[in-house]
Amino acid sequence: MKLIILGGGFGGLRLARKLSNRAGFDITLIDRFNYHQFQPLFYQVATAGLDASNISFPLRKVFQKSNNVKIRMADVQQIQTEQKKVVTDIGIFDYDALVIATGADTNFFGNADLMANAFPMKSTTEALQLRHRLLGNFEEAVTAKTPKELQQLMTIVIVGGGPTGVELSGAIADMKRFQLPKDFPELDFDKMKIYLLEGTGKTLANMSESSSSQSKKYLEKLGVTVMINTMLKDYDGENVILQNGEVIESRLVIWAAGIKGNVPIGINKDLIARGNRIKVDNQCKVQGYDAVYAIGDVAYMEQEAWPNGHPQVAPVAMQMADMLANNLRRKEMKSDDTNMQQFFYKDKGSMATVGRNLAVVDVPKPKLHFGGFFAWMVWMGLHLMLILGVKNRFFVFSNWLYNYFTYDQNLRLIFKEFYSHPKPKTSAVQLQQSATSTVV
Ligand SMILES: Cc1cc2nc3c(=O)[nH]c(=O)nc-3n(C[C@H](O)[C@H](O)[C@H](O)COP(=O)(O)OP(=O)(O)OC[C@H]3O[C@@H](n4cnc5c(N)ncnc54)[C@H](O)[C@@H]3O)c2cc1C
Repeated sequence: MKLIILGGGFGGLRLARKLSNRAGFDITLIDRFNYHQFQPLFYQVATAGLDASNISFPLRKVFQKSNNVKIRMADVQQIQTEQKKVVTDIGIFDYDALVIATGADTNFFGNADLMANAFPMKSTTEALQLRHRLLGNFEEAVTAKTPKELQQLMTIVIVGGGPTGVELSGAIADMKRFQLPKDFPELDFDKMKIYLLEGTGKTLANMSESSSSQSKKYLEKLGVTVMINTMLKDYDGENVILQNGEVIESRLVIWAAGIKGNVPIGINKDLIARGNRIKVDNQCKVQGYDAVYAIGDVAYMEQEAWPNGHPQVAPVAMQMADMLANNLRRKEMKSDDTNMQQFFYKDKGSMATVGRNLAVVDVPKPKLHFGGFFAWMVWMGLHLMLILGVKNRFFVFSNWLYNYFTYDQNLRLIFKEFYSHPKPKTSAVQLQQSATSTVV
């Protein structure tokens, strides 16, 4: 079976690993980056707590010992289901079976101002760009010409009170407490303001009541101004305009308020469900197509327990990959369709960290909630286990340990474009930027 997997994220990578060195499969894994990204720790890269390489893993290294997995670094442009072809910027690939595991991207809900001025965080590149802006603003603040400019540079607005927004707000608050005042003694950090805007009535709305209220309490204790039932209307780069007409002046807005599935061109529009996800059946098969599957964030599977589709989290993507790997092996062995496995999500719980020593954890069975230091330890242990590669695990762990005892880190570096010789026509930075379509 000539199998093409689009996307080397949690779902795509897991599927390729499951079928690696299995007889009967010729696999091509296509991703726009040559590495797997561990998205749950993007916020630590953005806040200079971890190096980008600690949470990225080269795809080619994963399959060095594989005799049937090929890696292609390419941007998928279109799929042609009739001809069973995938069109990319480096050429066209034929398939017998296709798995779409392209995940999700930031949803700015069509607001061009936001797209141009706010910072998303859906790739390692974007996390680094965010880090550069965050630190760059304080460098600028040192020479601010007016009190208004100074206040704008020292005000950070995070939009979206889900796990990403909560984790980022907490980490930035920790920077304000422990690191920034030491780096910039000439600035008055009482002036630094961190706002978290959330459109609904609570933070971490998808977790238990206890986690929601506890996370808000923790953030407020850390000095974050949490504004619930607050919607952003527009942002021009300096003024955050709220739906109720209020204005917050800020030079840094981080957008963590929405994602949409990365659906390749070529999928029938009738198959697109809420959140721009592809409707699939209980076996992740895209309805109405021959041998086309979708897994992870881009897949929308309605089940009795999940009437609005599954949560867009890593365990769903990985469990879908496991099920699909089993079914594809059965198909390859010409097993009967009745032998195929149906997807059932085993929800082992959810968690979010809020800052140093602070996290919240919900476990569904037995129904359990806990917070504080113990939850923080559990959060760290679990994330360490999930990171790919022994070296990465080691570096993340030693970074955390170093940070825990020194309250500091040596990663607050701004890598800006600089050429002592004539600038090359297309730089690596530009290539990455065009790949992520990010406006810096
Ligand atoms: C900041 C952040 C924090 C998160 N924290 C958590 C957490 O704590 N716990 C948790 O369970 N989940 C978390 N998630 C969600 C989790 O990361 C996703 O649910 C998971 O990555 C989905 O896996 P996936 O395989 O569907 O997609 P992804 O892992 O996103 O992989 C998609 C892959 O497809 C590639 N791709 C996309 N489009 C194209 C294209 N056109 N051409 C080529 N390649 C393409 C991308 O480069 C990427 O490698 C977080 C997400 C973010 C952004």
